[in-house]
Amino acid sequence: MYGNIVILSGAGISAESGIPTFRDCNGLWNNHKVEDVATIQAYYQNPKVIHNFYNQLRKDIEDKKPNPAHFAITRLQHEYKNGTVSVITQNVDLLHEKAGNVNVVHIHGQIDQSVCMNCGKIITSLEDTSVETVCPFCHIQGKMKPNIVFFGENLLSLNQVQKLLSECRLFIAIGTSGAVYPANTFASNAKYYGADTIEFNLHETINHYDFDNHIVGPAGQMFPPYVEKILKQI
Ligand SMILES: [Zn+2]
Repeated sequence: MYGNIVILSGAGISAESGIPTFRDCNGLWNNHKVEDVATIQAYYQNPKVIHNFYNQLRKDIEDKKPNPAHFAITRLQHEYKNGTVSVITQNVDLLHEKAGNVNVVHIHGQIDQSVCMNCGKIITSLEDTSVETVCPFCHIQGKMKPNIVFFGENLLSLNQVQKLLSECRLFIAIGTSGAVYPANTFASNAKYYGADTIEFNLHETINHYDFDNHIVGPAGQMFPPYVEKILKQI
């Protein structure tokens, strides 16, 4: 029997829906070098490349569908009555939302948003952006940036994450490699506050000592029965 539950999801859960992760593709992400499309320096040096890349990525992942792991989270959120079930995701796609998940915190940003580098306002839209896009808030042109956290930038919503971790009693990691700071500290953080920790991954992860339990295998197969088990315990 647990109180609040926090689920941290990483690229692995999206990979099972056919969205490639750059770590799996020899350092390439959608055939681009990470340093060309995912660093803040690249944005300042060549914003056109960045806009084109994320416009294309948005199209490439538009038709991708959530998998049984995403839907199991929806079920848990509907049927679990002992506390809240929140999702912290490192993924910029919207598969959690497509599956009907609520309380989703996108710490690496999301593909349907841009941020104005002049006024800081966030615009949610599936439309393409370019260096010609005008901010609807401050009306300045050429300052829109995909609201994706690049290398060299801080993660989003860390205060909210900290609060969720400190109040959770069960921390579940799904499809996250444990290689990227600071998300790889969330499990030990939750544990510090008294949570049980469990991870679902295709392989054993780097920070596996932070987890009380490890389930190895595809999340789409392994996670739904686990949800069933939690719900039966209530
Ligand atoms: Zn603006």
